[in-house]
Amino acid sequence: MLKVHEGISEQILKAQAHELHEYISNFSVHYIPTVEKRKPIVLSVLLHGNECTGLTVLQQLLTNPTVVLRRPLYVIFGNVEAAKSKVRHLAHQPDFNRIWMGGGRPEHKQAKEILDYFNDIEIFATIDIHNNTGKSPDYACVNHLDETYLRLAQLFSPTTIYFTRPFEVLSNAFSNACPAITLECGLSNSESGIERSLKLIQYCMNIDLLPTNVSVENEIFHSFARINIPPECSIGFGSTEEHCDFVFPEALEDNNFIMYHKGEYFCSRKSEAAILVATNEKNIDITSEYFEYRGLDIYINKDFTPSMFTRNKAVIYQDCLGYIMRTCDRESIKKNLKNEK
Ligand SMILES: [Zn+2]
Repeated sequence: MLKVHEGISEQILKAQAHELHEYISNFSVHYIPTVEKRKPIVLSVLLHGNECTGLTVLQQLLTNPTVVLRRPLYVIFGNVEAAKSKVRHLAHQPDFNRIWMGGGRPEHKQAKEILDYFNDIEIFATIDIHNNTGKSPDYACVNHLDETYLRLAQLFSPTTIYFTRPFEVLSNAFSNACPAITLECGLSNSESGIERSLKLIQYCMNIDLLPTNVSVENEIFHSFARINIPPECSIGFGSTEEHCDFVFPEALEDNNFIMYHKGEYFCSRKSEAAILVATNEKNIDITSEYFEYRGLDIYINKDFTPSMFTRNKAVIYQDCLGYIMRTCDRESIKKNLKNEK
């Protein structure tokens, strides 16, 4: 049975992410009541141990004397053990943002206990705060093309990503019960990500109903495929790492959210045995549709916009090199929204 702690201690509010494990364990859930009996907000932080913005946002929210909490707040602390080592997750652990749709490991069970607890609670909104390991603008992700979800995402940033795979993410699990979004706040503890998150949470505290006026003029991307590097292949960036199986441009991360065009150079490889793998939402291999091998060089075969490109090799092996996106066609979004009404 899940134990929900009342309040958040001074120590937690002062701790850095890598110190949190001294005070709480993984999957620690806390409840901060308010005088006003309104639907609560669920805030999730540190599902990935090296993404610290969520903790900073929480600390700034709760220690600022001018902030009045007008809704109760639930806080889910994710992987504080990984935070101690400043990594996404430890080698023996699963990814804590891939465990929310069932499975046989203890972490799946803990995630389910949390979801079961919230089953009986009417939630106003769920906000899961993350960072990118590569350079990126701030953006929010939704897993349902629903007006309130999209509008909530747009209140954070003009850039929104819609994705259904990976489906085992926290925001998707909460999406059936309430508007739920994932915030990607740029690099860990970047100022703008903290500021935007704080503004969004305070906005949600103060309104009675979430607006539905989705701006179809703002960019909504559909992230529909991921690019993986086989675990046995080494990865390098720039001319100093030309000995690696795959060599990407030094500035690969600068390409996030910038469209690649057919015929553009992508990367090179040491031998023809090194093969990239791009898979879509149905787990179908679509590598040859998007990439063309010309000897040891790899070129773009079809226009796409990438996201989440990172130079962090541990993250590339643990998650992926990056995602392939297309812009959601505005007419189909409008139609989709009408159908969902
Ligand atoms: Zn993350």
